[in-house]
Amino acid sequence: MRDTKPIYVTQPHLPPLAEFLPYLEKIWDSRVLTNGGPFHAQLEAALCDYLGVEHLALFTNGTIGLITALQALRITGEVITTPYSFVATAHSLVWNGIKPVFVDVHPDTLNLDPARIEAAITPQTTAIMPVHCYGHPCDVDAIEKIADNYNLKVIYDAAHAFGVKCHCGSVLTHGDLSVLSFHATKVFNTFEGGAIICPDAKTKVRIDHLKNFGFVDETIVVAPGINGKMSEFNAALGLLQLKGIDAALARRREVDALYRRLLPEIKGIRILSDSGEHTSNYAYFPVMVEDDYPLSRDGLYTRLREQNIFSRRYFYPLITDFPMYRGLPSAQAENLPVATAAARKALCLPIYPGLTDEDVYRVVDCLRSA
Ligand SMILES: *Cc1c(COP(=O)(O)O)cnc(C)c1O
Repeated sequence: MRDTKPIYVTQPHLPPLAEFLPYLEKIWDSRVLTNGGPFHAQLEAALCDYLGVEHLALFTNGTIGLITALQALRITGEVITTPYSFVATAHSLVWNGIKPVFVDVHPDTLNLDPARIEAAITPQTTAIMPVHCYGHPCDVDAIEKIADNYNLKVIYDAAHAFGVKCHCGSVLTHGDLSVLSFHATKVFNTFEGGAIICPDAKTKVRIDHLKNFGFVDETIVVAPGINGKMSEFNAALGLLQLKGIDAALARRREVDALYRRLLPEIKGIRILSDSGEHTSNYAYFPVMVEDDYPLSRDGLYTRLREQNIFSRRYFYPLITDFPMYRGLPSAQAENLPVATAAARKALCLPIYPGLTDEDVYRVVDCLRSA
């Protein structure tokens, strides 16, 4: 089987190289490499337009975006967040000297369960940091209600949620700030990159200062900022990637539909329900390997690898299993039964624009024959 073509869980979408060269020539001619150059300005405007948001600040990556978002809102003390995410979610809190307080997720969506948030609020709680897991929108209304009642800020880790729309337009306009990632593995990539969606021009100005060391002009520094600026190279790449994004999403949608047609006949493989309430970006295709499947999740993961198919155990381990978090009272497995079970069962199957129908059939055959 080793002679078959490898199928990876994701493959970055890239435009033809020749189409990138004119952008590079402009950068070489102008000698403007970074610090808010013309491509940076163009990409901010183009993304606002595409995503249906008013204000957006580009970043060098999503993690610096999360760290800066917390700085921008002056968040301190304790922040309620999810264990079922990429580790950067909690790390961004620790880099701000904030204590993460982990709350369990909802079994249907694997997003932070609003019904469990209130019990975790203490006098030190200042904010909630939920994640739109796999691009599935959080229960934004319930979270907003709790935040309003307790005077908490909400910062969404929207790293998975590029282009996702919920019942009232872009999901990115919810909460005080939302943070996107444009990492190579994401639906829309600039190799490395990210952005903060800002509710108003004033907030964007503050965030623009923070991402440039706090500089307001040549001689004035107003805050202990960081270097979070996106370069002209990455911004130009973003402009080019944006041209192909609709075709890339359309192919992802077809792959998603094919899996959804083929997988239900396989006993023990459960697809996360896709509530029709929102527009998905088909960023991931998670399945739950249930106890009535002939193999364990890890067994299936290994079986697929033997067939040259590289799925991903995402999210496993939980953030709360890593050594810097596992001692916290909220990190104990008894506090997080749903997330703990999901981390044992979840497997993300290959999905990306370059995946063919034959590739999908090969993956499904392998799941069926176990
Ligand atoms: C990718 C990701 C991040 C980090 O984004 P980078 O751009 O890689 O720094 C944060 N949170 C989640 C949920 C992610 O998937």
